[in-house]
Amino acid sequence: MKKQFMVLGLGRFGSSLTRTLIKNGHEVLAVDKNETLVQEISSIATHVVQADCTDKSVLQELGASNFSHAIVAIGEDLQASILATLLLKELNVPKVTAKAKNENHGSVLSKIGADQIVYPERDMATRLGNQLSSDNMIDSIELSPDYNLVELKAPASMHQQTLLELNIRANYGCTIIAIKTGEEINISPLAEDQIQMGDTLLLIGSNDNIRSLERDYE
Ligand code: ADP
Repeated sequence: MKKQFMVLGLGRFGSSLTRTLIKNGHEVLAVDKNETLVQEISSIATHVVQADCTDKSVLQELGASNFSHAIVAIGEDLQASILATLLLKELNVPKVTAKAKNENHGSVLSKIGADQIVYPERDMATRLGNQLSSDNMIDSIELSPDYNLVELKAPASMHQQTLLELNIRANYGCTIIAIKTGEEINISPLAEDQIQMGDTLLLIGSNDNIRSLERDYE
């Protein structure tokens, strides 16, 4: 379904976000005080405005209260990030996602009413750190501080074993939710399905359990 978003701040994060939302078929009102950035995004965003997001009357004129979701993509200028978030909540925008530079910034944003806080640099570093620490890890998504959804290259020692034989759930408390073979993806693998060399596994589990599984099946 087509949605309307307001993106405040068109730095590296805000502009990439705008591009992705547009690519996925949504409408975006993109705002930045920097004219060059506004020009750069004008060919792709639905509406682009050069304005100061810390001015309440500006946000009102832009119709901020008509948007169901606004994203504050201002990181460096803490004052601007906090003020913009506060004003959007005062204007009753139902969902405000704000980008935080660090934990302190995030905790202020959450206290003034941000509905979702994202930490792009911290999260990307964690994902990269996990990938680099493991020979088989392709990607991981943190579901909570203790649980991850991971994409793993199937270890050679699993070759031609069925899920029943491996019995990952009973032995490790992890669940294989999908098996990818080339472009094919089996999203509801059965007990008798076999893992082949070169397959990719999508696995959910606690970090400790995923680590011990990786250790045992190197
Ligand atoms: P990134 O790390 O994603 O590049 P930055 O914090 O460096 O994020 O960039 C934030 C963007 O927000 C910049 O393009 C800046 O011009 C814009 N910005 C900062 N303060 C305001 C404001 N008060 N009103 C509108 N745009 C702002």
